[in-house]
Amino acid sequence: MTEMTRRNFLTVAGVAAASVAIGFPNISKAATPLVLAPLPYADTALAPVISQQTMGFHYGKHHLGYITNLNTALALPANAAYADMTLEQIMLATANQKALAGLFNNSAQALNHQFYWESMMPKGGDTAKPSGLLLSKIEAAFGDYPTMKTKLVDIAVAQFGGGWAWLVDNNGKLEILSTSNADNPKMFGLKPLLTIDVWEHAYYLDYQNVRKTHVQAVVDKLLNWNAAAVRLGA
Ligand code: MN
Repeated sequence: MTEMTRRNFLTVAGVAAASVAIGFPNISKAATPLVLAPLPYADTALAPVISQQTMGFHYGKHHLGYITNLNTALALPANAAYADMTLEQIMLATANQKALAGLFNNSAQALNHQFYWESMMPKGGDTAKPSGLLLSKIEAAFGDYPTMKTKLVDIAVAQFGGGWAWLVDNNGKLEILSTSNADNPKMFGLKPLLTIDVWEHAYYLDYQNVRKTHVQAVVDKLLNWNAAAVRLGA
C-alpha cells in the first residue's frame, strides 16, 4: 500500500484500538498495549467533592501506573498467555495466586478504577436518585434509599486499609460489601453496580484522614445511578 494509505490505516487502527479499550461499563479488550481510557468528564467536574489536584494524581498517576505496569508485565514472554485476554479475564485468571500477584493487582486495579470513574458524575447522588427497577431492588434489600446510603457509607468507612466499597447484585438481590486492596466482586460471582475507592490516595489531599466526610460527599453528590441502572440490566 502507498505511504499515505498506510498512514491512514495506522491512524484508523489506532483509534479503533482505543475505543475498544474504553467500553462501557468497562468490558474492555486487552489488546496490548492497553490505553488509559479518557475520564468520562473534565478533571474539574467533580470538585469540590473531589478536587482537580486529587483527580490529577489519582487518574494521571495511580490509574495510569496500573495500566503501564500491566503493559510491561504483558510484554514479557512468560506472560504471553494473558496478552490477548480482557482485563476481566486476566483478573479472574490470576486471582489468589502469589506468583501472579503483579498481573492480578494491576489488571484488577485498572478495571476497578475505570469502573470507579464511571460510578460517578457531576450532579449525581441525591440530584439524580435511583428510580424504577433499581429503586425497587434497593427498597427490597435495604428498606429505602436513605438507609441504603447509610449502609454504604458505614461499610466504606469500616474497610480496614486500602480497598473498595461496592453495591452489587447477588443473583437478583442487592448487597453492599467492601473488598481489600485490588479485589473485585466478580471474583466472588457478584455483579458490581457501583464502587467507591477508599484507598487513602482517593481522598487524602482533600480530606486528610477523614474518610467518612469524603465518602458521605461522594454518596450524596456524585454517585451515578444511571450507570448503576445500566449495569443492573447488563
Ligand atoms: Mn484509587
